[in-house]
Amino acid sequence: HRTTRVAVVTGGNKGIGLEVCRQLAGNGITVILTARDEARGAAAVEKLADAGLSGVNFHQLDVTDAQSIARLANSLKARFGKLDILVNNAAISGVQSLPVQDLGSTVSGEMFSGMDRRQRAEWIWANCRETFDAAKSGVHTNYYGMKNVTEALLLQASSDGRIVNVSSDNGLLRVTSFPQTDNLIPYQYTVSLSPSTSSQEANSVKGIEIPFLRMQHFRNEELEQELNDVDKLTEERLDELLAMFLKDSEAGEAKARGWPMYFSAYKVAKAAMNAYSRVLARKHPKLRINCVHPGYVKTDLTRHLGLLTPEEGASNVVKVVLLPEGDGATGVFFALGQEALF
Ligand code: NDP
Repeated sequence: HRTTRVAVVTGGNKGIGLEVCRQLAGNGITVILTARDEARGAAAVEKLADAGLSGVNFHQLDVTDAQSIARLANSLKARFGKLDILVNNAAISGVQSLPVQDLGSTVSGEMFSGMDRRQRAEWIWANCRETFDAAKSGVHTNYYGMKNVTEALLLQASSDGRIVNVSSDNGLLRVTSFPQTDNLIPYQYTVSLSPSTSSQEANSVKGIEIPFLRMQHFRNEELEQELNDVDKLTEERLDELLAMFLKDSEAGEAKARGWPMYFSAYKVAKAAMNAYSRVLARKHPKLRINCVHPGYVKTDLTRHLGLLTPEEGASNVVKVVLLPEGDGATGVFFALGQEALF
């Protein structure tokens, strides 16, 4: 008889994170739903309790706050003395969204109703700004938040410990696209594209034919190679690369230096998350540390422009969390439930 497994989920109050909590609790796992905001987190736990899911506990966690991370680690130690599952889900866009009231309109179903997906996506891009402050917050939340939470909780990882980092296809280093994740619409005609016929190999995800064109996020081959060379890569080098990115962003030179265009900080932070996961997986061969692209999901992050419901996105994450005990996959990137290339 196994004792109940314990899971921590970051950013659990809404979107994909909330549904991950729901599905893990539905599988008999004790879930610690964390949120940076006490009231939003408590409301989410209540929602799950109303749906008949007991075994969901709330703990405050702001992934950018060292003290908040330490409080969670201490409470976990006192209460459970172990951690079986960590889902690093919390993230932000890394861009500044223009306040909707300034646009004289509201982001509502009504407002979008006359627009097709391309127009909606264009609207979103037109209404955000890549400021340095937003980029900095993006890197600090999406990369360092994930890393600091991981480091603090790793010490309590059980022998079958699993870490699932909710990443994105936006952080992949090659020309890639997945069915149901066609989120490239606003960029298709603004950047150079490679026809899928001539990059069939780069585009291939095990078992999936890629039918459409996709922009390549990274345009600096040296950088791509470095991020992909897990034998040589170190956490310190990742810190250096992120510092370089932020320096280039501040100087307005990110584009010229080949960092990804459009939502650059988001892409760079997710690429760093992928690389860190691979480095960490090697360092801790007994744990299973993987990345997941949940699909393009209707949440606040995408202004509800996704193709999948949060439940469907979460199930792509939960599948990896619950890989059978015999499945030793670690240091792997999963897209929509299938193994894919980084
Ligand atoms: P949402 O915006 O709906 O949810 C993001 C969650 O992260 C919220 O709970 C938010 O809390 C939390 N969060 C943000 N900053 C912090 C912080 N400093 N500390 C703690 N929590 C924080 O987004 P999604 O559900 O769409 O995104 C979940 C994950 O999925 C992200 O990692 C995202 O990158 C990834 N993803 C999403 C895709 C999509 O199509 N939706 C596609 C690919 C990847 P609060 O409510 O307080 O803001």
